Amino acid sequence: MKTNKPYLLVGQGIAGTVLAHHFLQANIPFKIWDSPNHFNSSYAAGGIFNPVTGRKLEKTWLADELFDYLFSFYQQLEKTLSASFFYPMPLYRPFANAEMKQWLMDRKPQINHDFLTWEEDGVWVKQAGWVDVASLLRHSKNYFKSLGIFSERTFQEEDASNFEAIIYCEGFHATQNPFWNKLPFLPAKGELIRFHSNEPSRDSILNKNGFILPLPDGAYKVGATYRWDEFTPFPTASSQDELMSKLTSMGVSKYELLETYVGIRPATQDRRPFVGMLVGNNKGIFNGFGSKGVSLSPYFAQSFVQAIKGDKELDPEVSIHRYSHLFSV
Ligand SMILES: Cc1cc2nc3c(=O)[nH]c(=O)nc-3n(C[C@H](O)[C@H](O)[C@H](O)COP(=O)(O)OP(=O)(O)OC[C@H]3O[C@@H](n4cnc5c(N)ncnc54)[C@H](O)[C@@H]3O)c2cc1C
Repeated sequence: MKTNKPYLLVGQGIAGTVLAHHFLQANIPFKIWDSPNHFNSSYAAGGIFNPVTGRKLEKTWLADELFDYLFSFYQQLEKTLSASFFYPMPLYRPFANAEMKQWLMDRKPQINHDFLTWEEDGVWVKQAGWVDVASLLRHSKNYFKSLGIFSERTFQEEDASNFEAIIYCEGFHATQNPFWNKLPFLPAKGELIRFHSNEPSRDSILNKNGFILPLPDGAYKVGATYRWDEFTPFPTASSQDELMSKLTSMGVSKYELLETYVGIRPATQDRRPFVGMLVGNNKGIFNGFGSKGVSLSPYFAQSFVQAIKGDKELDPEVSIHRYSHLFSV
């Protein structure tokens, strides 16, 4: 039964933020709370969106749909927030070695698709780029504050009765939430480093077993590491060493390290997000975006809002209903 109460979105990472903008567009009344006591992994993100993946240069899952939508979404959002944070930029993927180059060239007719332009020693990827996620989150927070819908506050279950429904956008922290911790998350800790150098290109992202991303202030970011053995929000010596090896292997010899970022990707075992409302319960989730929060969250926020309004069902591949047997409701 519908109440006159607002929805509550719990968490203002990239997931909660992007969903909140879609709630605003759809005129669904809501509040958004973000905890000062939990760390936010979105601030660590490189923010890259890249429609090509893997050794065989395949299109990422749903690339055509996701990438068309994300361009229009972030460009419109820059206007709404009067801010710049969306940076389309060509991405270059050199072939890993001579053997791989030959292997790919032999299969070029089968592998080729609209996102690729082939060069002698690698491929350019179209419709790639990056989002300055920290800037997007800060501008959005100010915007939500100006609308009177944002609070810096930790949600607790006793708050639930004040709301039509609770939508949990807690990222990695959902694995500590007794209600959602049954879901098959597979979190992955990651680190990246901001650095100064005169060596890498300023005009494109380099992607070779890692990435180097030029920033508007003249610095760069190198990333990213993956580990599954510990989940503290602190840098580790081994990951720092790994990032410096990535710099060397991408041809950067002289650099000055500026800052390290650490986060935990809310990845899932079936590599698909967790989206939707539980049946017979006023709890929903928008999570599981793993290492692709920037490219996945806009399209699935749009889908979630369509499902909440009863306009269109969610894609079964992302719907939380694939795990409804885990919830005794
Ligand atoms: C090193 C690194 C590099 C990455 N690079 C990229 C990249 O290039 N491109 C890309 O698309 N993705 C990248 N990612 C992944 C991206 O960071 C994640 O997909 C994204 O951060 C997930 O966002 P989220 O909103 O689900 O979680 P979070 O950003 O962690 O946000 C969750 C929020 O919920 C809040 N919260 C939790 N519990 C409560 C509560 N009870 N009450 C109130 N608030 C609560 C927390 O305070 C937090 O702010 C990277 C990740 C890492 C670690």
